[in-house]
Amino acid sequence: MKRYDERDTMFARMTYKEGKRNYEDYYLNNPDKKAIDDKLRKSPGICSPTTPTYHPIDANFAISNFKFLSDIRPLVQGKVSQKRVSVNQKVIVKRLKEIAIDCGADLVGIAKTEPYHYYSHRGRPLEHYGEEVSDLLPYAIVFGVKMRKENIKQAPKLPEVVESSMTYVQTAIIGMQLSYFLRELGYDARNHMDGNYLVVLPLLARDAGLGEIGRSGLLITPKYGPAVRLGAVTTEIPLKADERMNVDLASFCDICGMCSIKCPTQAIPKGERTTIGGQLRWQIKQEKCYSFWGKIGTDCGLCIKNCPFGNGIDLMDLKKYTPKELMKKA
Ligand code: SF4
Ligand code: SF4
Repeated sequence: MKRYDERDTMFARMTYKEGKRNYEDYYLNNPDKKAIDDKLRKSPGICSPTTPTYHPIDANFAISNFKFLSDIRPLVQGKVSQKRVSVNQKVIVKRLKEIAIDCGADLVGIAKTEPYHYYSHRGRPLEHYGEEVSDLLPYAIVFGVKMRKENIKQAPKLPEVVESSMTYVQTAIIGMQLSYFLRELGYDARNHMDGNYLVVLPLLARDAGLGEIGRSGLLITPKYGPAVRLGAVTTEIPLKADERMNVDLASFCDICGMCSIKCPTQAIPKGERTTIGGQLRWQIKQEKCYSFWGKIGTDCGLCIKNCPFGNGIDLMDLKKYTPKELMKKA
């Protein structure tokens, strides 16, 4: 499977500023993306006072969460203790999972990392732009924090971005606690958090057995559906990987399509999957999605709100019912 390049993601592209190295380099190599990105950069943006969802108190709470995340980003890596504690694999796997749950995770699993879990190159922040992602750590503890229904139900209004910013903070902190702990035990570990990822979280979470990726491009989990925020810590400590969930979500998404129907910008395709980068999947039109965020002032969330998983049906129901039978229950 081809590795993704973080430089191509909207999150990275929206940080490129005219006159800076990332802007000059990216649009020299991708001239077709310049006009749309320049236009998107001019839109008011998430939590902007000129957007229709703005609220002076809640918007500033979300902004403060993003500022906090920005401040703690340099802490994802750190010094590894020279006194390595030898551990029994079974014991440490159990303990790491317990600690993740104690720190606030609702889901946790272990993956053996593959090159395709890692970006090929970094897109952000500016000082790391263009760096090749190498020295890949071989295991990952992957976890999820559920997003509260009462806030997701209000998507695309401001409570949705309040929820997403809060869960970004929660996953970042869980990742910090796990990575500091592993380094204290004498094993290298790196947290992957908002604005400072080396990994593609939905792929890693899928392979850690937390769920499957749906038409919306989001990880669909048992119990919470797509309403989870993901985080991960990669590490050198040898761990036992969990197995991928054996459910046929793609056949369900083939007949459901609710996220695509409800998407206000047609960013989620309606048709069948196509082969992209060696995988059969649906390709989200990220520019269309992002254009709505910039106008509305939140990160939308309508595809999360309208997915039947977590809203009456459970991903594990696909083990009991055919996609058609389950669709009737949705
Ligand atoms: S977040 Fe909103 S605009 Fe983006 S894909 Fe989901 S429904 Fe569409
Ligand atoms: S809304 Fe339907 S099509 Fe979209 S991800 Fe959820 S189950 Fe799949």
